Amino acid sequence: MSTQDMEQRQLNLAVDLNDEGLLMIPGPTRVPPEVRAVMTRQMISHRGPDFEELHADVTSRLTKLFHTQGDVVILPSSGTGALEAALVNVASPGDRILSCVMGAFGARFAAIAEAYGLDVERLDVEWGQAPDPDEIVARLQSGGKPFHAVLLTHCETSTGVLQPLDENIKAIRAVAPDVLILVDAVSSFAGAPLYMDEWNIDVTITASQKALMTPPGLGIVAVGPRAREAMAKAKLPRFTWDFEPYLKAPGKPPYTPAVGLWFGLQAALDSIEAEGEEALFARHRRMRDMTREGFQALGLRPLAPAEVASPTVTAAVLPEGIAPGTVLKLAREKGLVLAGAQGHLKDTVIRMGHMGGVQPEHITQAFKILEEIWADLPAAGVNR
Ligand code: PMP
Repeated sequence: MSTQDMEQRQLNLAVDLNDEGLLMIPGPTRVPPEVRAVMTRQMISHRGPDFEELHADVTSRLTKLFHTQGDVVILPSSGTGALEAALVNVASPGDRILSCVMGAFGARFAAIAEAYGLDVERLDVEWGQAPDPDEIVARLQSGGKPFHAVLLTHCETSTGVLQPLDENIKAIRAVAPDVLILVDAVSSFAGAPLYMDEWNIDVTITASQKALMTPPGLGIVAVGPRAREAMAKAKLPRFTWDFEPYLKAPGKPPYTPAVGLWFGLQAALDSIEAEGEEALFARHRRMRDMTREGFQALGLRPLAPAEVASPTVTAAVLPEGIAPGTVLKLAREKGLVLAGAQGHLKDTVIRMGHMGGVQPEHITQAFKILEEIWADLPAAGVNR
């Protein structure tokens, strides 16, 4: 890159920062200009060839990104709605479910299953760790009624842990070849590799506002053949979230889709494909490493051990005496928006999202701001 190009790029970044601040939360993520631009387009009819074409294009490209021969359903919902949809389509009242909970979002998946009267058994994992395959297997072999489904969170956004899905699913399949495996990939999809068919996942759930760098509002569910069979027998009540009408008539959605967001998602997929999966994942790993190093240099400890550190979000433990609220407020005043944490991590942990539209340059800029804040902390009455 020539010096002039570099200066131009820095200028663009500076303009970007001044105009819009530096949004570094784990979703919604920054939406790149090319995605924002298409969402001002005029609406199209969702009952006709224009939408059918858009649907065919977007779903076929998502299918490739899921690495599945299965089907993709796109709902007008946030990620939670898509998790709920996945469950109600494949389960019946009283079904025994093993829910591996390694943080706030795993707990939510379990809570949804409980709300529907499923017989949920939680495998609680210390927040900041990934589930141990031997423990999952021990639960599956604990006797009693066979488990109908296992719920897993790929990236636990509350802790920044990416669980080794492939390895854990292999262990599950060795003892429960037919159990349904539902994976919450809301904050990993398009930021970390995921091979739905090769890894033997039955239902994969994601949403538009994370690494897909589209505004919130689209819940995306990929459904494999074992899940299709389960759908035919599943008795949980469902109407709006019933996949059947979506799958029966692809491109002819039963209810009005969020068309404007579909335009955005299509443009985001253009960008993802132009970058290429390998480069996309390499960029995310680089951003993870930059973020962990940046936090460590300031005296914060990344919560997730390096082996399971997510390429999309990092949670870091603040040094004693520094409250998350203080850091978030000082950062906000300088245009940097970070996230706090949930549950028992609330008073000690901050999180930085580094996925989708976030680029390495944004991370460098974010840490420049954090260094300034750290230099000012004593003046703000905080002991370091
Ligand atoms: N699962 C995970 C892993 C998430 O990160 C989130 C959102 N942070 C959700 C589920 C819920 O998604 P939403 O807020 O879009 O309902």
